[in-house]
Amino acid sequence: MYTAGKPAPGMDRTPSFKLSSNENPFPPLPGVMEATAAAVAQMNRYPDIANTQMTRKLSNRLSVPEEQLAFGTGSVAVLYHLLLAACEVGDEVVYAWRSFEAYPIAVQLTGATQVPVPLAPGAVHDLAAMRRAVTPATKVIMLCTPNNPTGPALHHQQVIDFIDSVPDHIMIVLDEAYAEFITDPEGLRGLHAMAERPNVVVLRTFSKAYGLAGFRVGYCVADPQVAAAVRAVALPFGVSIAAQAAVIASLDAEALLLDRVAELVKARDALAVGLRDLGFEIPDAQGNFVWLPGGPQTDSYAAAFARAGVAVRPYASGGDWDGLRITVGEPAANALVLEVAATLAEPTLR
Ligand SMILES: *Cc1c(COP(=O)(O)O)cnc(C)c1O
Repeated sequence: MYTAGKPAPGMDRTPSFKLSSNENPFPPLPGVMEATAAAVAQMNRYPDIANTQMTRKLSNRLSVPEEQLAFGTGSVAVLYHLLLAACEVGDEVVYAWRSFEAYPIAVQLTGATQVPVPLAPGAVHDLAAMRRAVTPATKVIMLCTPNNPTGPALHHQQVIDFIDSVPDHIMIVLDEAYAEFITDPEGLRGLHAMAERPNVVVLRTFSKAYGLAGFRVGYCVADPQVAAAVRAVALPFGVSIAAQAAVIASLDAEALLLDRVAELVKARDALAVGLRDLGFEIPDAQGNFVWLPGGPQTDSYAAAFARAGVAVRPYASGGDWDGLRITVGEPAANALVLEVAATLAEPTLR
């Protein structure tokens, strides 16, 4: 039988580098693979419904009481559960825009009203405008730091001042999906921000720095009552046996995983500098991705990357903040990004 040769990168329009989902490019660590394989042999059994071992391990790691933790199949699921527990029709949820696409969907699911607040120059949250968007109907405020897809992180003091300026019956959700990648010394430390502030919830995930996106595990750290409400709303047996084992093994292998994060951070900073040297206005990048403003050329930029075999994430709505989110990948992928970027026309600024 005739076997077709592997097409040259991009020739069949199949990207050979996937830089579109902010995944970790490293393969699983050996210890994590073995622990997970052993768990797979138990697939005829339901998982531990209370996530007992995983909860104990994470509670020790974060130095927070077990009763303050609630897990879900990705932190997106935890966010859904949180909003379902907190919101009803008529409530308002304030969030920055452009930000994580899951927010409007999650709010919609609850019947609450979306209150998106445009980003400020520099692609940062406009906290003053978000404060002004608060009304008596505001139930939840989402802060995404670093902001997906634009990259800058909120500063700790800035967030503390913001939280303390809003009525304390409003739930403030700090989405720290990329916390491990932040190198800005002033960056938010969510767990500190929530100490003594029972209305603050921290959302974290094992999908990004820990490289477990395919296993779907995220969690919140919250006031015990809020965490209990999230557990009550969550589907039972959500986090699989294999996923629980992978999380436990990953926490054991954390030092090695964080070495990889350090490598990605170095590559991120180099990518941002390289793109700036080409004349692009790259906002401060504090996650495992960079934001390339594209304006009306966003789709043609994405097509140029695709032709070269690089899948990136275009955001083209015809409005403000159109551009590409490019995940930091393996060294060859990052080099190719710079090569393609050098061929792009200068963006038409909005
Ligand atoms: C990736 C991401 C998450 C978490 O995704 P899960 O895979 O569902 O854990 C949450 N928030 C932001 C901003 C993200 O980018």
